[in-house]
Amino acid sequence: MKYILWFNEISKNDIPSAGGKGANLGEMTQVGLPVPPGFVVTAQTYAEFLRRTGLDKLIYPILSSTNVDNTEQLEENAKRVRNMILSAKVPMDIQMYIIEAYRKLSNQLGGEPFVAVRSSATAEDLPGASFAGQQETYLDVKGERDLLKAVLKCWASLFTARAVFYRTKQGFPHEKVKIAAVIQKMVESEVSGVMFTASPTGDTSKVVIEAAYGLGEVVVGGKVTPDTYVFDKKTGGIVSKHIAKQTWKLSRSKSGIGIERYDITEDMQQRQKLPDDKIIELAKLGLKTESHYGYPQDMEWAYEKGKLYIVQARAITTLKLGEKIKKEEVKGHIITKGLPASPGVVTGPVKIVLDLSELEKVQKGDVLVTKMTNPDMVPAMKKAAAIVTDEGGMTCHAAIVSRELGIPSVVGTGNITELVNDGDLVTVDATKGLVYKGKVEIEVESLEGEVPETKTKVYLNLGIPDMAEKYAKLPVDGVGLMREEFIIATSIKKHPLKAIEESKEGEWIDKLAEGITRVCKAFYPRPVVMRFSDFKTNEYKGLEGGDKYEPEEDNPMLGWRGCSRYYSPKYEPAFRLELKAVRKVRDSGLDNLWVMLPFVRKQEEVSKILGIMKEEGLERGDKFKVWIMAEVPSVALLSDEFADLVDGFSIGSNDLTQLVLGVDRDSEMLGKMGLFDERDPAVKKAISMIIKGARAKGKTVSLCGQAPSNYPEFARFLVEQGITSISVNPDAFAKVKRVVAEAEKEVGR
Ligand code: PEP
Ligand code: MG
Repeated sequence: MKYILWFNEISKNDIPSAGGKGANLGEMTQVGLPVPPGFVVTAQTYAEFLRRTGLDKLIYPILSSTNVDNTEQLEENAKRVRNMILSAKVPMDIQMYIIEAYRKLSNQLGGEPFVAVRSSATAEDLPGASFAGQQETYLDVKGERDLLKAVLKCWASLFTARAVFYRTKQGFPHEKVKIAAVIQKMVESEVSGVMFTASPTGDTSKVVIEAAYGLGEVVVGGKVTPDTYVFDKKTGGIVSKHIAKQTWKLSRSKSGIGIERYDITEDMQQRQKLPDDKIIELAKLGLKTESHYGYPQDMEWAYEKGKLYIVQARAITTLKLGEKIKKEEVKGHIITKGLPASPGVVTGPVKIVLDLSELEKVQKGDVLVTKMTNPDMVPAMKKAAAIVTDEGGMTCHAAIVSRELGIPSVVGTGNITELVNDGDLVTVDATKGLVYKGKVEIEVESLEGEVPETKTKVYLNLGIPDMAEKYAKLPVDGVGLMREEFIIATSIKKHPLKAIEESKEGEWIDKLAEGITRVCKAFYPRPVVMRFSDFKTNEYKGLEGGDKYEPEEDNPMLGWRGCSRYYSPKYEPAFRLELKAVRKVRDSGLDNLWVMLPFVRKQEEVSKILGIMKEEGLERGDKFKVWIMAEVPSVALLSDEFADLVDGFSIGSNDLTQLVLGVDRDSEMLGKMGLFDERDPAVKKAISMIIKGARAKGKTVSLCGQAPSNYPEFARFLVEQGITSISVNPDAFAKVKRVVAEAEKEVGR
């Protein structure tokens, strides 16, 4: 067991010992980012401390018997636990390890340094679990005794009422969350702040930087309104600057001990805190960090004597796409303007809270108006329909918490508390950062949930082309299943063979091409995987003229469907109409259209169909992918052989379950008996085989059945098996993204 780890001994995989912050600082040091030097007192040291002092036997029972909804009890028990830790005696050898490391750091820096002691929880910084701002940081710590005290405080900070509340509500067992202490040279910053390498409101093409004089704590804590600069990733330039007036700052006390508040001279107050060249230097470093981690980053930075330091970096866990205002022209009286910290539009009565004693007046649906929120206000914030503050920037407490709670918020208005009165009706347009008097009609389209970035692609299953524009606004990677049947049934309605008989092929092709075009345009350049028709004979019969061309089948589900139709002399002419429509769309420049063959039973079928496609001018290539559905068990059993024929697979878990278990997917009776279940071990085994076969041949593998849409947790299994992409219903998208992000972190993808 290691009691101490130096930053250069730590990588991102060391979360269990160094916590999220420590692991990130270690990884950043390895990448060569300018991290102030330091070390970590590991989470194991903390666990050992609890064990050897016997505290573990005492504190967990207290916590598990606490009703966190009873605020008084929660506060009292949390405090009891903290006091037990603070008054405990740290075993001598543990003390020595910490002191020795500090002495080594002092030698490196040529004298005892001021250090920051930061808590670094081991369940912290996991995508999906945002513990933002929950644990403490102790600044300006100097000397061995004070350092030991700060480490103890750090350990105790794992048990603030707020932290206990969050863990309980989010289902994290207390004993699973450990805490490491990061000890790091303090940067005496002249200017510092935070940086988001994607806008917290969801725009991933921008970097948002907030800057203030002095120590960065004023920005993170929302104590002052910082400058906000927006950098455009594409052009590499600054696209906007919002300069805020700053009248005071926090700096190291002139006496050398502690931090103090200092006034800022008048001529400095309104100045741009960071010059343009430094903004660009910083943004570029942000991009380097983002590309190293593969996720947008939330970073803390500082300039000391002109030298840039990166103090912290963590993945942004809540990227929100936002809501789109439909009507651009809004009529109404604007009371004030601030920063749009968490998107949404809400109308409600104002409740002004200037003191904690006023918290109780906030009721469900109210617009909470305050100078700045703080952790004690969270219960009231949860009731509020929207939050508007005088102070703060995009990363202040109000901003972070409202994003996490999914409540619209506008921060940094300057003086909202002076402009409204209790009970005033206001409309908060947090998409633009505006507060209107009274009820104002603003039509919005709600699009999403909060979604983290993932390496595994997450596509949409899309049926109705009319919905394409709406869903294309989601941060999806494309359309993983577009069922052609929907277009035929809703806009063509005629059996293709009847169209041929009437010599109206052109019309049939055009209508199909029109539907496909709409989807491809909306999602361009993201791929749209269109699956050729997969009606069963009974369904084809329902189309105009269908009776004449469709045989009577006892088991249409196992009959003339999917691939078996395309090369059969009876249907082949109709299949060529489908191909002509695809060709037409691709020839129009929409090269994001890929295709997929449904219900493949045998390799020969695929070969024959690829031959017909070639005759119609559709050949597999770099920009035109051809996938097959893996939904008949034969494809699972011989997946590596099928893989030779195509670019990728998409697992049809609906049909695969039906055929592996021999359960009619439409049988209500068997369904009610629980027999149709994609999570069955046999089905999962078939899925594993398909993924393995595809990967062995370097082909992609997706899944477009209902399983992950119905059971988002199913996505975890797919990620573990190494799936390339998952295609889900729009309403399940955000949830699946979150599960995928967590699973990726676990499997180290
Ligand atoms: C499937 O079988 O899982 C699938 C996606 O196709 P369909 O539901 O259209 O048969
Ligand atoms: Mg199917």
